[in-house]
Amino acid sequence: MHLKKNGVFSRSASAQRRNHSRVLIIGAGASGYAAASRLMENGFYDLTVLEAEPRIGGRVNTVRFAENIVELGAEWVHGEVGNVVYEMAEPLELLGHNAAKRDFNSHMDFVWSGGALAERAEIELLLNTSQAIRDAVDVDPALASYTGSYGEFFLDKFNQKLMALERRPPAELVDRFLGWFEKATGFYDGSDTWFNTSGRGLLHYRECEGDLAITWKRGGYRTVFDLLTKRFPNPSQELPVRRRVLLNSEVAVIRWAEREATSRPKPPIVVELSNGARYTADLVLVTVSLGVLKHSADTLFDPPLPQRKMNAVRNLGFGQVNKLFMYFSDPWWPSGLSGYSVLVTEDDLEAFKRKYPQYGSMGHWVHGLSGFYIDQHKPSVVLFDWIVGEPARVMERYSDYQIMMGCKDWLDMFLGQNFTIPTPIGFTRSMWWTNKHFKGSYSYRSLDSDRADAWAAHLAEPILDRDGEPAVLFAGEATHDYYYSTVHGAIESGWREADRILGSLK
Ligand SMILES: Cc1cc2nc3c(=O)[nH]c(=O)nc-3n(C[C@H](O)[C@H](O)[C@H](O)COP(=O)(O)OP(=O)(O)OC[C@H]3O[C@@H](n4cnc5c(N)ncnc54)[C@H](O)[C@@H]3O)c2cc1C
Repeated sequence: MHLKKNGVFSRSASAQRRNHSRVLIIGAGASGYAAASRLMENGFYDLTVLEAEPRIGGRVNTVRFAENIVELGAEWVHGEVGNVVYEMAEPLELLGHNAAKRDFNSHMDFVWSGGALAERAEIELLLNTSQAIRDAVDVDPALASYTGSYGEFFLDKFNQKLMALERRPPAELVDRFLGWFEKATGFYDGSDTWFNTSGRGLLHYRECEGDLAITWKRGGYRTVFDLLTKRFPNPSQELPVRRRVLLNSEVAVIRWAEREATSRPKPPIVVELSNGARYTADLVLVTVSLGVLKHSADTLFDPPLPQRKMNAVRNLGFGQVNKLFMYFSDPWWPSGLSGYSVLVTEDDLEAFKRKYPQYGSMGHWVHGLSGFYIDQHKPSVVLFDWIVGEPARVMERYSDYQIMMGCKDWLDMFLGQNFTIPTPIGFTRSMWWTNKHFKGSYSYRSLDSDRADAWAAHLAEPILDRDGEPAVLFAGEATHDYYYSTVHGAIESGWREADRILGSLK
């Protein structure tokens, strides 16, 4: 009666449970789940996971859409060597190496408003030049001592390469292409502008060798939770993490001050929920996003976090990336195409604003759309786009219908002369910014991180009690030194803290 269909305890059931655990984990995303699984694998079951959302998964959110599934959060397994997600999923043949994705750029057209396609040879030249600079970033000796932004670094290199060409593409095309490329590379960090992304900060991130855009063959990214708990491939071996998760349990305050007392036994840490419920524990593992910490660390911890950790919270970058999916009854685009990237001029924007004032009454967002790309569906009837930075935040102020129609009218402006574009029959999107349990997408290194000397390691440091033992611990993608912004980084961080807890409890 107290168990939901999926085996997760409902809140009414939580009231039946005792409210003291040796370990409380805050957040049932990849890092929290990984930590709980690791603890149980080592025979430690005295734990509770408090999750604010009505679902597990956090920034992994696989949803049903268009008779299929789409990923509102993580989609790709980035690389093979050293990637723990790859290591768990590949032997079970769950992953697909998608050739079409690898050739994405060569099957993508660039289109001006009014429908004219950019010259293929010129686009290829611009794409190859830009991609070569991006790909060479981690072997570029100049970057380690560079103090400027990634935008400045990139444009400097790009202009040098352009000047060296005998025949250059027209300036207007170069300008518009760069506008698109900034948006496209913005997916890496979600920064409002590449002039705020740290140039040398790109070196902090470590890429796993191998295919960088591996997808899940079936089930989507949420399958990773079944792998962590060993539910897949053999349900009888499942670690009972789900049964320890209390959904709809938003933590309001973590009172860790009492741990400063030296009396034995140590008084527990007290965790209060927004609904008034109270839990106690010997150790608390916090896995909420850096966005949540930026937004609410001042009230979430009593007493406040130490200075060095707050410096990391304030100054590490946390991006805004959203996804949009449009579902059509039939494909109206040529088969074999991976999509259209739009080459936007200021005039296009002004014309759009004049013609459709309703889409900008609360601020404009269409200029954040980089294009329309075909999702790997069978049959292929879904177009998607990613939207980054300020437009990604603004977009969340509008209803699904407004955004869907705005996308359709924007599409019409570029491709309406070439095709009759029908109104989509379905639409979905992510809203990572307004949801107070995320407040954005993933972490990155900004110029502020450089200036303030803010590091993931500072975020990861546990708060120790007076005996020098961990009291409040931290995991989550943003705490990973070099795999930040990924699921594999989040999982490794959860395992790291589970090992620390096991060491400390011994
Ligand atoms: C649009 C998008 C695309 C992405 N694409 C990829 C990709 O292709 N490949 C990849 O590897 N990674 C990708 N990522 C990043 C990846 O999803 C994250 O790095 C990873 O899922 C983060 O896991 P986490 O456990 O650190 O945090 P989260 O998943 O955020 O988990 C933290 C949990 O804490 C909960 N919480 C928050 N506040 C409270 C509170 N007060 N009380 C209780 N619970 C609370 C949240 O609800 C959440 O469930 C993407 C992310 C986004 C948003």
